[in-house]
Amino acid sequence: MWQAEIRIDLDAIRDNVATLCAGTSAEVMAVVKADGYGHGMLPAARAALAGGATWLGVATLDEALTLRRAGLTSPMLAWLLGPGLPLHEGVEAEVDLNAGSLAQLDEVVAAARRVRRPARVHLKLDTGLSRGGSTPAEWPALVEAAAKAQADQDLEVVGIWSHFACSDAPGHETIDRQLAVFAEGLATAERYGVEPRYRHIANSAATLTRPDSHYDLVRPGVAIYGLSPLPGPPPAGLRPAMTARARVALTKRVPAGQGVSYGHAYHTARETTLALVPLGYGDGVPRHASNAGPVWLGGAVRHIAGRVCMDQFVLDCGDDPIAVGDVAVLFGAGDDGEPTATDWAEAIGTINYEIVTRFGGSRVPRIYD
Ligand code: PLP
Repeated sequence: MWQAEIRIDLDAIRDNVATLCAGTSAEVMAVVKADGYGHGMLPAARAALAGGATWLGVATLDEALTLRRAGLTSPMLAWLLGPGLPLHEGVEAEVDLNAGSLAQLDEVVAAARRVRRPARVHLKLDTGLSRGGSTPAEWPALVEAAAKAQADQDLEVVGIWSHFACSDAPGHETIDRQLAVFAEGLATAERYGVEPRYRHIANSAATLTRPDSHYDLVRPGVAIYGLSPLPGPPPAGLRPAMTARARVALTKRVPAGQGVSYGHAYHTARETTLALVPLGYGDGVPRHASNAGPVWLGGAVRHIAGRVCMDQFVLDCGDDPIAVGDVAVLFGAGDDGEPTATDWAEAIGTINYEIVTRFGGSRVPRIYD
């Protein structure tokens, strides 16, 4: 009998991608970095491609090479490339590489020359996130250098791209501003003869709320896993793909006033049944969920009583007839009363992205449905 498990509904990922594809005329790049936001990079990638995604997006070169080694042949972009990486392996594997500075472009060109084939490059413009990419001031020099390298057949500029800062707050003033900077950057590139096939800026939030940002390709991440980056109820057609659950390992009756778990951060209000759930921060349950995380058990949502430990936490179940072996659901699709990853995020002051990503990478077996 299983003790704790993460279940992944791959049909949900496939269907979520199909829903996103139906809502845009752009191609869809499924973002599967960080082990597919905890869902498993390879199964998530395969499910996303089955749902109609034509591209895969990852942060690191290693992630992209892992996808290639597993036999995935779709176009893919790796965007977080520090200095000194074996970029030539990416060029040989036909992984598209990001270049957001002259130094990064130089590294890509050197990699291409080493393996004597043009690199596929996406030039990144920082339109206001102030993270990766060239500033608008640096942009003409980057585009000019890319145009020259393209003429020298060291690279092919496949894309020009950017990333939003506040698209999860629809109507935020920065969204229009970033779109305007992006449009100017594209016009500048055109003046240098750089007119790539793919222009892309939309993450999940912009994919869902700003069709005018879709251009040729959208890059949804969290939405393909059925979670919404937006405030309010989840958009129709998205179904959460991950469920985290465990069987009660022990129950006990304790009197009123009993201190529970490390530090006695919780005391029972009356005589009650405590249930021990065998999942802890070693499995992805945030310690911040102490006295807060919602859990579905015995037909009701209860909140973690006291501190989350490395391997376990406790629920205060009152007089409900909870038995050893009963299934406690931390989060799931929400269809049967259980909390969702979004409920968890709200309860403990984080985002649903972090909840699923940390559970997926844990020691708990991941079971694919
Ligand atoms: N594009 C880039 C560059 C990203 O870093 C990410 C994720 O953070 C995404 C797209 C997908 O974002 P989201 O999960 O909000 O759709």
